[in-house]
Amino acid sequence: MAAAVVDPEIPVLTIADLGVLRDVVDGPAGIVVRITPTYSGCPAMQMIHDEILAAVDRAGLGPVTVETVLAPAWTTDWMTERGRRALADFGIAPPLPGPAPVTFFRTAPGICPRCGSTDTTEIAPFGSTACKALWRCEACREPFDVFKTH
Ligand SMILES: [Zn+2]
Repeated sequence: MAAAVVDPEIPVLTIADLGVLRDVVDGPAGIVVRITPTYSGCPAMQMIHDEILAAVDRAGLGPVTVETVLAPAWTTDWMTERGRRALADFGIAPPLPGPAPVTFFRTAPGICPRCGSTDTTEIAPFGSTACKALWRCEACREPFDVFKTH
């Protein structure tokens, strides 16, 4: 049930899809849910934290503790195949699989989620949220969000 908690910014993605959910342990002091934050610029993590508490509570499974695990650091490679597809269906270009890039704010080369064209240009490094960049497709002229690879 904790796995079904969605990213408040991208409601089609669960934290399991994102790769944010590390572990759920049924310990002597109750359930421990371990999560790894995507990155510090993402205000969604506090909401995800609260949502996990609420989801476990709704399921009547408390008490629950949410632990933040910082190592190893999250990368977009942890996002599941289902998560990448859900992003694309939602109209956001998913991050590309591959080795973790060197720079923190590197953006995945944009592939237009509407027509699939790779002839795209970054318009702004920050889109509707800090986690996404704004790109435009030169083929269909539509702007779209790119989930940043990092
Ligand atoms: Zn396009």
